[in-house]
Amino acid sequence: MKFVLNDILKGKNKIALGGHIRPDGDCVGSCMGLYLYLKEQYPSVSVDVYLEEIPEAYRMISGTENIKSQASPDEIYDLFICLDCGDAERLGFSRPLFENAKETLCIDHHISNDAFADSNYIVPEASSTAEIVFTLVDAEKIDKKAAEALYMGIAHDTGVFQYSCTSPETMEIAAALMRKGIDSSAIIDRTYYEKTYIQNQILGRALLESMLIMDKKCIVSVIRRKSMDFFHASPADLEGIVSQLRQTAGVEVAIFLHELAPQKFKVSLRSKKEVDVSEIAKYYGGGGHVRAAGVTMEGSSHDVINNITARIAQQLRHEEEQDAES
Ligand code: 5GP
Ligand code: MN
Repeated sequence: MKFVLNDILKGKNKIALGGHIRPDGDCVGSCMGLYLYLKEQYPSVSVDVYLEEIPEAYRMISGTENIKSQASPDEIYDLFICLDCGDAERLGFSRPLFENAKETLCIDHHISNDAFADSNYIVPEASSTAEIVFTLVDAEKIDKKAAEALYMGIAHDTGVFQYSCTSPETMEIAAALMRKGIDSSAIIDRTYYEKTYIQNQILGRALLESMLIMDKKCIVSVIRRKSMDFFHASPADLEGIVSQLRQTAGVEVAIFLHELAPQKFKVSLRSKKEVDVSEIAKYYGGGGHVRAAGVTMEGSSHDVINNITARIAQQLRHEEEQDAES
């Protein structure tokens, strides 16, 4: 059955949009792209967007000044649309609004998504949720501001059109967005590559302390609270560190841990060609994509790394066995 956004919006007067905790470029880009489109095309409908605090650079996207970062639980929406969010828990503070809404819709591209809303439009082959949003709206009617938001989402989740999730369709959609007159270089430069001094310092620290393990197939680095305090870094300042670790020649998997609390770590995983990191993240209660996934784990950093590497070793062994058979 073809999914039609127009059908779902029928009769809805009050809509909320929400993304995942610690919003990244695709989360903000897809939410803001849809928000700006709905505002423009459905002026009689009231639309609110709920997101945790976003990185300062993303403020170049129109409408971000209207983002609500607190939710009043007695607010009842006709429809709550969650974007780029693999499970209900990751909605964070906006989850009560999702639970209380009369109807819910989930638009996402995480392979680990367990279809937790009333209607679910999950396209794991899509590079980004922003790419899916593009396919759901009338492309002719996307204005420059919404195009900027969607372009940011696609550029971020594809690592600027580099990762294997980038398809010919992705490039066609990016081209259509460019034709709306956006300054694509400025979006990429300011929201993706530009780093604050603090971000560069903490990146340097993570790289300096990284270690090659598992016969140099994996690289691992840990940032502790005391380092974050020392550099005055926030969790958002750590974005991009794991991608940089992944660039290391010869490495298949990059593992980056940051300490959330004593004995509690946010784990980011990236792989190149062989290891399905979404399977590993999901096994420990997280999720994500085949080549980029995350999970929160408890225990010492050694325990966490040992548990993750045991799963990586299992996958690599399995791969070797299959190669030997064929
Ligand atoms: P990152 O490592 O950049 O935080 O996340 C990589 C990918 O995995 C993103 O697509 C993100 O949405 C997903 N992800 C990260 N952490 C979690 C988690 O704890 N649970 C789930 N379901 N997905 C996660
Ligand atoms: Mn995404």
